[in-house]
Amino acid sequence: MGKAAAALAAGELTEPDGRQQIAALVRLADLGAAAWQAGGEVRWTGALTVADVLAASDAQTERENEIERTRLAMMRHYAEHDGCRRSFLLSYFGQDYPGPCGNCDNDREHPQPPAAGVPADVPFAVGARVVSERWGEGTVQRYDGDQVTVLFDEHGYRELYLPVVAERGLLRPAGAHECGPPHPRRAARDR
Ligand SMILES: [Zn+2]
Repeated sequence: MGKAAAALAAGELTEPDGRQQIAALVRLADLGAAAWQAGGEVRWTGALTVADVLAASDAQTERENEIERTRLAMMRHYAEHDGCRRSFLLSYFGQDYPGPCGNCDNDREHPQPPAAGVPADVPFAVGARVVSERWGEGTVQRYDGDQVTVLFDEHGYRELYLPVVAERGLLRPAGAHECGPPHPRRAARDR
């Protein structure tokens, strides 16, 4: 990727060749450093320096790694989950299914009372778009007791403790303006 950036910046037109180079060029185009030409070549746009591009690319890689780490953490939770697996999986994909289904291994081993599911007084519906000052926009995935799981677009999964969410106003509806209830101690909000 550094090599491709340097070559392009030096004015060499590059025709994508090989998977690794294509990946590098796609990323350069995503970052705005390069542009695809009608003929299929790629041209350096000059919008960024090579150093800027490498820094932006590292940041992008770090974001992707962070999302992947949180995804793996959720998979571990799934493996260790002792409640309804169907409910866990569906809520992982953002569907509101309280369960238990009565058919998964956990339900058969320890039958559970129906619908411990989503508490009645949750602040956001499952599937709702929310904003956190720290992690940006995300989608409410599931509730589990006093925890809410949010899939943030740029930071992956976060499990938040509901009383803290309420007390500090950690989440607000996405797209809402700043005219809601006042948020004192905004700076103290991040953990
Ligand atoms: Zn089940």
